[in-house]
Amino acid sequence: MPPEVSPLEPTLLVVDDNDNNRSLLERQLRRLGYTNILMAQDGEEALQAIVRHGPDLVLLDIQMPRMDGYEVLAAMKERGWVVPTIAISALDEIGSIVRCIELGAEDYLTKPFEKVLLKARVQSCLEKKRLRDREVHYLQELEAANRRLLAMANQDGLTGIPNRRLFDTVLAAALAHNLTQPLSLIVFDIDYFKQFNDNYGHLQGDDCLRRVAAAAVESTRTQQDTVARYGGEEFAVVLPNTDREEAAIIAERIRRAIAELRIPHSGSQVADHVTISLGVTTDERTPPPKTAAEVVAQADRALYQAKGAGRNRAIRYDG
Ligand SMILES: [Mg+2]
Repeated sequence: MPPEVSPLEPTLLVVDDNDNNRSLLERQLRRLGYTNILMAQDGEEALQAIVRHGPDLVLLDIQMPRMDGYEVLAAMKERGWVVPTIAISALDEIGSIVRCIELGAEDYLTKPFEKVLLKARVQSCLEKKRLRDREVHYLQELEAANRRLLAMANQDGLTGIPNRRLFDTVLAAALAHNLTQPLSLIVFDIDYFKQFNDNYGHLQGDDCLRRVAAAAVESTRTQQDTVARYGGEEFAVVLPNTDREEAAIIAERIRRAIAELRIPHSGSQVADHVTISLGVTTDERTPPPKTAAEVVAQADRALYQAKGAGRNRAIRYDG
């Protein structure tokens, strides 16, 4: 039966080509209370063990045939592996120690070494690793929190789609980054929404907004289009690389998808269910370039006309 490996117990890797040295070091480490000890008898085995087991600390003999300790350190450095390593050398000379440190070793021991020294070095390396791990973990948590915060700042809390602020960014970016392809914009709002809220209450109103948002998202192209809540019961859809014909098709698809939700709406004067009116504009990108405000104003104008023409329809801005 394999021994139980506790996740809290550090895993140590002992690398030495000499069988006696290896088992001596293992015995010493066990006496110090370490139980998860892996062994490797050459550099290749050491690298494999590091990949497979991710040890917390490597005790690395420098003098080994074929791949020596320097080469192991160099290979780890080249691969960007950060595993604390104590280099162990019989050569009590300053040069080999300096070279190990330069190659990324955390600490070193020269053979023969005192048990108290082994204990102190191993403990100190593991403690530093623990602190580093905690710091990395903390930084990751912080980054995740920042990402969540950023997402929240750009998201409409009710419907979960982009808010006005992100819409402004997306439209400005689409206008700035693409100077040759036509760009279309749809703005739409829910017909007689005030009456809907009056009749059914604000909870039903919120639910209606959520379903309308979802249906609009479903009717657009995932990679390309951005459906945003513009404010209240008003939504906007940015359609990059989209000419007037395509924009008309997408506008009609959205209109139909929302009508087909068949959300009862007794206060509407145009249907017995929730409908929308849409204004559509296409900027052909002919100079002079239009600003976001101008494009929005065109779509708004078309929306106003759609309402005047009896609602539940899409109207295209025509100069
Ligand atoms: Mg050796």
